[in-house]
Amino acid sequence: VPGHDANCIFCKIIAKQIPSKVVYEDEQVYAFHDINPWAPVHFLLIPKVHIPSLAQVGGEHAALMGHMMALVPQLALQEGCNPYPDGGYRLVTNTGAEGGQEVHHLHFHVMGGPRPWLRG
Ligand code: 5GP
Ligand code: ZN
Repeated sequence: VPGHDANCIFCKIIAKQIPSKVVYEDEQVYAFHDINPWAPVHFLLIPKVHIPSLAQVGGEHAALMGHMMALVPQLALQEGCNPYPDGGYRLVTNTGAEGGQEVHHLHFHVMGGPRPWLRG
C-alpha cells in the first residue's frame, strides 16, 4: 500500500493487522473507536496515507483535509453526538511531543456524549 509505514500502529490498523471497531471507511480515510476513550463517544479519524502529524500537512493535502473535515460532523451525528439542541463534540489533534501526541500518524480525535466529562 503506498504511504504505508510498516512500523506504525495506525498503518497496521488500516491494514487490519490490528483489530479495531470501525466507524467509517473509504478509499482515503478510516475512522475507529479509541481503545481508551476519554468521553462517552470517542473515535479517531485518520488518513490512510501515513502522515506523521499535522505539522507535515501542506497544500498538497488540501483535498484530503477538506474531505476529513467534512466527514467530522457527519460521523459525529452517526455516533450520536447531535449539537442540536444541546449535544455536541470536540475535535482535537495533538501535534508533536509537547502537543501530547503519542501515535505518530495524523489523527483527529472526535469526543462527545453526555457531560460531565467536558468539565474540569
Ligand atoms: P494521541 O495522544 O497520539 O493524540 O492519541 C493516540 C490515541 O490513540 C489515544 O487516545 C489512544 O487511546 C489511541 N490508541 C492507541 N493505540 C490504539 C490501538 O491500538 N487501537 C485503538 N483503537 N486506539 C489506540
Ligand atoms: Zn501510519
